[in-house]
Amino acid sequence: MTNISIFSHPDFNQHERILGFYDATSGTKGIIAIHNTFRGPALGGCRIWPYVNEAEAFKDALRLSRGMTYKAALANLNLGGGKAVIIANPKTDKNPQLFKALAEAVNDLRGKYITAEDVGTSVADMTIVKQHTDFVVGLPVKPDQDDGDPSPYTAYGVYQGLKASVKHRFHHDSVNNLTVAVQGLGSVGFKLCKLLHENGAKLIVTDIDENNVKRAVDELQAKAAQPDEIYSVKADVFAPCALGGIINDDTLPQLKVGVIAGGANNQLFSPLHAERLKEKNILYAPDYAINAGGLIKVTYEGQDFTKKDVLRHVKQIYTTMLEVFEEADKAKILPNQAADRIAEKRFGYNKGPQH
Ligand code: NAD
Repeated sequence: MTNISIFSHPDFNQHERILGFYDATSGTKGIIAIHNTFRGPALGGCRIWPYVNEAEAFKDALRLSRGMTYKAALANLNLGGGKAVIIANPKTDKNPQLFKALAEAVNDLRGKYITAEDVGTSVADMTIVKQHTDFVVGLPVKPDQDDGDPSPYTAYGVYQGLKASVKHRFHHDSVNNLTVAVQGLGSVGFKLCKLLHENGAKLIVTDIDENNVKRAVDELQAKAAQPDEIYSVKADVFAPCALGGIINDDTLPQLKVGVIAGGANNQLFSPLHAERLKEKNILYAPDYAINAGGLIKVTYEGQDFTKKDVLRHVKQIYTTMLEVFEEADKAKILPNQAADRIAEKRFGYNKGPQH
């Protein structure tokens, strides 16, 4: 049996609301965590995962929702941070009743939390959720010109953030003739590679799916590397666009780049690795700052917008990244600490009662 503490939980971090829900018809067990609504309703996807126990699910909900507060605040959006998790296997346990149960729990929060897709859920699943609640985003709002896929916006934001990182590190912001090593050629990674290629960068790419690599080699004149070789290739920039935790004790000593700027979530295995990157004179673009393009996009849903309007907004990630690096230099702190500091100012982080 696992006991869950709330207010003394190490990841509690001043969460405003935490809701556990259970649906007897489907047996659905879920948790919605709302970290902060200072800037607006808490937005964050619903993750369906076969957590080994409730404590793991609870911890994940708390950490992910807090992360969303920082991401929205740093991107200057009128949103707070929240997240839902459902303890289930996304391959075998999804059914309409489960999504109805999620929607009803979301409705109970009367708009304080807005859900979306995440790991284990899809746009199609959110279409079912939408039948029961208005508080859901990430849907194909204009099927003729927008299928609900956030990845083109995420990739464009990463491209802008990468350019800002290059500017800070190498004092010019053109990627022309730079070598960029890209890990992961999925929805975000491939689109990033296209933008880089169109702007004159040379690509070294890897993916565990050989078809993705072949496509990048054929269409973008990329050089292929094996998945475990990508950390040691000589390049100007490394763009992780696959997994989390890839900057770790094993990979860090291998790196021969000046900048790390990519779309993957939670790239650092631990905060300690940010310090080690600095010691190696590698500039790290904090992941939640650079990959906010998809989140920026969902704020346009329900409005009349064009792709161009959204891209113009996403382009601001360039300025945000420069602001982060400048704050880091000025305060002699790491870029990830600077990003947190700027975000905390924006969402009114309260250090709590002083005793
Ligand atoms: P995706 O599943 O479409 O692509 C991931 C790619 O990485 C796949 O092609 C996969 O084969 C490859 N991959 C997996 N393990 C690998 C390994 N060990 N080495 C090399 N390649 C590997 O996912 P995505 O939507 O492109 O997202 C990529 C990352 O960006 C994830 O960390 C995701 O959380 C983050 N992210 C995505 C978005 C978005 O809009 N899609 C937004 C913010 C953050």
